[in-house]
Amino acid sequence: MLEFRKGDLYIENVKLSDIAKEYGTSTYVYSKQQIVNNFENYKKAMALRDGLICFACKTNSSGAILKILVSLGAGADTTSGGEIYRCLKAGFNPSKIVYAGVGKTAEEIEYALKSKIFMLNVESFEELDVIDKIAGKLKIKANIAFRINPYVNPDTHSYIVTGKKGTKFGIPYEDAVKAYLTAKKKKNISVVGIHSHIGSQILEVEPFVVAAKRIKKIVDKVERHGMRISYIDCGGGLGIKYEKGEKVPSPKRLMSEIFSVFDKDKKFIVEPGRSIIGDAGHLLAKVLYRKMSGGKSFLITDAGMNDLIRPTLYDAYHEIVPVKKTNAKKVRSDVVGPICESGDFMGKDRMLPIVEQGEYLLVTCAGAYGTAMSSEYNSRPSLAEVLVDGKQTKLIRKRASYKDLMLNEIL
Ligand SMILES: *Cc1c(COP(=O)(O)O)cnc(C)c1O
Repeated sequence: MLEFRKGDLYIENVKLSDIAKEYGTSTYVYSKQQIVNNFENYKKAMALRDGLICFACKTNSSGAILKILVSLGAGADTTSGGEIYRCLKAGFNPSKIVYAGVGKTAEEIEYALKSKIFMLNVESFEELDVIDKIAGKLKIKANIAFRINPYVNPDTHSYIVTGKKGTKFGIPYEDAVKAYLTAKKKKNISVVGIHSHIGSQILEVEPFVVAAKRIKKIVDKVERHGMRISYIDCGGGLGIKYEKGEKVPSPKRLMSEIFSVFDKDKKFIVEPGRSIIGDAGHLLAKVLYRKMSGGKSFLITDAGMNDLIRPTLYDAYHEIVPVKKTNAKKVRSDVVGPICESGDFMGKDRMLPIVEQGEYLLVTCAGAYGTAMSSEYNSRPSLAEVLVDGKQTKLIRKRASYKDLMLNEIL
């Protein structure tokens, strides 16, 4: 949804420099149409089987974004009580909410059960005991799936690999059948599914298929014990194109290969996050200063690592584009923020034109794990978020004020 028209960069039908002038910077800007398109791709992929598309809302939990997904028919994949709360407020049907997480507290479990969400993805034997107890207290049966660690190692950043042996996630593969047999004996537990989520920003279908085949083996073994696993929750993790030349498989290809591993009567859940919202959101920043230091050019912007931590945390690449085309000479530059950390950068060694002071840059594809991971480090108030729909813009989160910084402090 980004396109240059007569030298100006547009998102849908709005000039990015106009957004910067109206709402200030730094600001997250989202394209509604891109969210719709991305979701529709999953709908097409899931049309072949029965099931749910649960948006992984940890990638972006802004209420207005969640509401768009509700209107498209999405369910939600949550990781905390707070996310369940946000999803209910946004209007998600609780029967379309799933909840995973290695460290669910008793309070969160009780809240999830009382909210009647679809299922809890259980990650340890001890968690199963706690859920059984709380469900008993509430006199209900808790729907669960076990999150199984299938021991596959996708080629992605080590911080976002979750399905490898030795990570904290899920029930160890060798204990999977035992977990189901344990659940069978619990009075207040009802087994509905099996779950795996192997990692994020995965650009190949193969590790998903390897994981699916390993999960299928567990399903077969468990069902031989007279239990029934209706839902296969295959997690999220499909990558997006951050850099030119990267190839990304379509949701349709991914899902059809996963479907082919399982029997026809199975229902499926998929939990895409990044591939729904990643390329729909961008971070708009202003160049405050330019300087040469140590033989290097620096573009100092008003977007810092507190606004977008992915470059710092994962060494992630985001393409950075000036919102006005210019013939200025390109030089190798670091695009940095105002934070007092050397790790505070949006991009390093980029060939960028020497833009004027006060010009705007767009840090692209920052919709996933952008605002969601932002903080007020250096006492920088949370930034604004703007949603673009055709020619229209709408402020979906106000920029915080200095006063907001001290909201819950007791002096
Ligand atoms: C983070 C996460 C997802 C979403 O991953 P993406 O790479 O953003 O698609 C899905 N399921 C679970 C359990 C997760 O933890």
